[in-house]
Amino acid sequence: MRSRIPISKLLIEARVHAFIVAKRPQWAGMKQVTLPTCSWCHRPILPDERAVSFPCPNCGKVTIWRCRVCRELARPYVCPSCGFEGP
Ligand SMILES: [Zn+2]
Ligand SMILES: [Zn+2]
Repeated sequence: MRSRIPISKLLIEARVHAFIVAKRPQWAGMKQVTLPTCSWCHRPILPDERAVSFPCPNCGKVTIWRCRVCRELARPYVCPSCGFEGP
């Protein structure tokens, strides 16, 4: 049985949740907090992270998020709506 991935994912989510509640106590009562995810690495973006968000420059329908790491490494993003790729 190889079930290591779901377990590690659970641990990460619990850690992220604890971090969020520490930063945003008004969210503590929420059962689920929806975080934006980075367009490139799909990591949840935390409230105080120096991430950037902008509407897709091609279609404008989707808000694209880039986490701090991907922004610093200048990784490309892909619009989930129209498939536009940009730096
Ligand atoms: Zn990222
Ligand atoms: Zn687009």
